Amino acid sequence: MASIFTRIIRGEIPCHRVHEDAHVFAFLDIAPLAPGHVLVVPRQEVEFLHQLDDAHAAALGAALPKVARAMLAATGASAYNLLQNNGALAHQAVPHVHMHLIPRFEDGRGLGIGWRAGQIDHGEAAALAARMREFIA
Ligand code: 5GP
Repeated sequence: MASIFTRIIRGEIPCHRVHEDAHVFAFLDIAPLAPGHVLVVPRQEVEFLHQLDDAHAAALGAALPKVARAMLAATGASAYNLLQNNGALAHQAVPHVHMHLIPRFEDGRGLGIGWRAGQIDHGEAAALAARMREFIA
C-alpha cells in the first residue's frame, strides 16, 4: 500500500504544496511545530535515508536550501532546524523518508531539543571511524 506521503504526492490527499520537481515534493506539515514547518519528501518511497538512490538523494540535497530560503522568506524566521528521523526508535512515524524544515522563533516555537552531550572516548572513536572508512571504501 502506498505511504501517506505518496498519496499526498499523487494528489489523493490534499496538502499545502510548497515545491516540487522530478524527484522531490515539499508541503506543510499538518501538525507543525511552528508555522511554516515544511516536509521535504523524495518521490522514491523508501523508509530510511540510507535506502535512497543517488538521484533522489542528490535532488533532496539540492531542494533543501531552496525550500529553506522560501520558508525563511515566508515566515520571517531567521533560525531553523533540519530534522530527519529514521526508525520508530528515533521518532519516525511515517515510513517514507522525509526531511523536516522547522523555523525557530524567539518565543520558543519550533523544535525542542534534548541534547545529551557525552564525552568522547578516543580509542573507541578511532575504531569506529576506521570501520566507517572501510565500509565506505
Ligand atoms: P516523523 O515523526 O515520521 O519524522 O514525522 C512525520 C510528520 O508527518 C509529522 O510531523 C506529522 O505531523 C506529519 N504528517 C503525518 N501525516 C500527515 C498528513 O497527512 N499530511 C501532512 N501534511 N503531514 C502529515
